[in-house]
Amino acid sequence: MRRITGTHVYSYVKCQHLAALDLHLPRSERRPPHPWEEFAAQRGRDFEARYVQQLPIVAPQYPERDFEAGATATRELLTAGAPWIHQGVLMDDDRLGLPDLLRRLEGSSALGDHHYEVLDVKSSGRSRGEQILQVVFYTSLLAVVQQRMPTHGALILKDGREERFLIADYQAAFDQVQAGLRRLRGDLAASRPFLQPGCQGCYHDRRCLAAMEATSDLSLVAGMSHGARAILETAGCKTIGDLATFHAEGARARGNLDAALLRRLRRAAQAFLLGKPIVEARPRAERFGNAALVHMLTDPFADRVLAFGVLHPATAAGTFTFALPAAAADEWGALKQLLATLPRGVPLLHYGEALPRWCEVHAFAREADPTFEARFVDIGKRLKAAATWPRAVFGLGDLVHFGLGVDPLRAGHAGAAAMWTTLPDAAARLQAKLHSDLVDLAALHAAILEAEPTVVAAEVEAAAVAVARPE
Ligand code: SF4
Repeated sequence: MRRITGTHVYSYVKCQHLAALDLHLPRSERRPPHPWEEFAAQRGRDFEARYVQQLPIVAPQYPERDFEAGATATRELLTAGAPWIHQGVLMDDDRLGLPDLLRRLEGSSALGDHHYEVLDVKSSGRSRGEQILQVVFYTSLLAVVQQRMPTHGALILKDGREERFLIADYQAAFDQVQAGLRRLRGDLAASRPFLQPGCQGCYHDRRCLAAMEATSDLSLVAGMSHGARAILETAGCKTIGDLATFHAEGARARGNLDAALLRRLRRAAQAFLLGKPIVEARPRAERFGNAALVHMLTDPFADRVLAFGVLHPATAAGTFTFALPAAAADEWGALKQLLATLPRGVPLLHYGEALPRWCEVHAFAREADPTFEARFVDIGKRLKAAATWPRAVFGLGDLVHFGLGVDPLRAGHAGAAAMWTTLPDAAARLQAKLHSDLVDLAALHAAILEAEPTVVAAEVEAAAVAVARPE
């Protein structure tokens, strides 16, 4: 029987199927990390090493992967009252935990006049639920060893800040997660993949995607939720082909799914079968013929913008300009200078929340143009609303892939930008990625926002039916 670890707790909160696969499959079944994922993981390890360096830490000594010996060595350190224990080993029956830090506190326990609490070092800027529940898991193991439940746990975030929280506030959620993990450990089939944003960075992505495609899983359809999939399957609608032609008479036959939602999902299933977006009829008041596209590449760990790019007008033939600020202090000036070359007042099309959020944070401390914010237009939101997409789409890469049929990663992955800065050709890579993203956004703008509606609903349905039922 595989032991439940802190990593399983973390995984379960992100995706239950991920936890199930981790509990049942060997590590060799995971896809190897991409170079930029390994780069980010190394940065996290380096951050932890730097953080603990300034503490008077001790660590249990034991033969590699001999966790029984590790737990014994940790217990000795706990009993001796070491102020800080780094990477201790905590075990209890079917559970194993390796918390980053254990900190001694006053107050009696089975260890003597003192007890401990758990701290985990994270390279994120804000605490997340899965990180907190991981600390609660370690705390529950520590409570068994010291026969005392610590009141608090803590996360050390990337700015060195310690965020403390009450264990009791998360106990009920943790109990549910732990029970869920035990259920999944007993039965891998108790979970199934569901296409979601996290799949893109998951080391089981290829396995899950292949499985979902093989079964024509409803979660591939844009707008699907776990609940809607379960209801539709119960109503006998089990594949995308079924959904594309699903006409349930009455609320009961459709499992009480909202009729408008069902119509949207059916249309999304038809788009899936057609293999291209269905451009919807909509009011044409808003046109962005003279707009500029603005884009940026970032290093979230360092809170840095590595590159800004502008394409004006927002067409593939538009003029491309860019800036690569060398330091945080240069970022605002670099963007301001790029935008100063544009005709006054042109709308600034951008993808997602990152650019306006960055401007909001930085405008405070600077002499900001108050009209900036009013000129921002999130092209991502408009693209998603203007068409029914042939698959669930989460990021720019999905829109490019499923909207244009081109490889969104032909100039590399945006997540690799921080890693590129360590390479001699960093400037060329950043420039190439900015340009390819901007050209893709311009092409999406033309193909979706400027295009006429695809065809009338009846024709779409007839075409989808022909694909779903070739006879
Ligand atoms: S690929 Fe997606 S569904 Fe599969 S385990 Fe990872 S997050 Fe879960």
